[in-house]
Amino acid sequence: MKKIGLLGGTFDPPHMGHLLIAEEVYQQLGLDEVWFIPSNDPPHKTATDTLVNDRLEMTQLAIDSNPHFKVNTIEIERSGISYTFDTVKTLIDEFEDIQFYFIMGGDMVEYLPKWHRIEELVEMITFVGVKRKGHELSSPFPIQTIDIPVFEVSSTVIRERIGEGRSARYLLPELVESYIKERGLYGSE
Ligand code: ATP
Repeated sequence: MKKIGLLGGTFDPPHMGHLLIAEEVYQQLGLDEVWFIPSNDPPHKTATDTLVNDRLEMTQLAIDSNPHFKVNTIEIERSGISYTFDTVKTLIDEFEDIQFYFIMGGDMVEYLPKWHRIEELVEMITFVGVKRKGHELSSPFPIQTIDIPVFEVSSTVIRERIGEGRSARYLLPELVESYIKERGLYGSE
């Protein structure tokens, strides 16, 4: 059976924290691939004005140099609110020969009890939690935890830095940084 990690996110923009956790979990669990799934409309976040298409383009650029990372557009194509339950259900039904692992940072782990249809979801997929500064990895639901080097960068911090005209170099891939500048995203010049 193939083992695939799923990394859902808004990727607004994607950054080194995302790539680092995907690579660590890939290595430590011996996964075949990690699929990055940009959300359409995340249930737990207030939307920024970044276009879905820009988030998708940036996610593609971010994983560009890594042959075992893929982008999956299932949530964007489905449109509407992006419930992980719906995504996982569709993927499990479609790929019966794949074992899926859902990767998430500590902020998401803390939020898990509020997830849509979580009781059913925990029976369907293995959750893999990684540490994030300021967040606990304890959960009332069974999750596997993976020890990784904590690198506390967030999309929010990157958006703020770019908006203030400060450098975000080394916090995100160069291709993504160039795309942001070309498109004038987040108030960049
Ligand atoms: P924002 O700042 O806009 O809320 P974010 O940086 O948390 O965004 P998301 O795209 O929402 O990024 O994150 C997708 C997944 O990656 C989530 O499970 C999140 O916990 C995890 N993640 C993001 N950044 C890190 C990081 N630096 N270390 C560990 N996990 C991370």
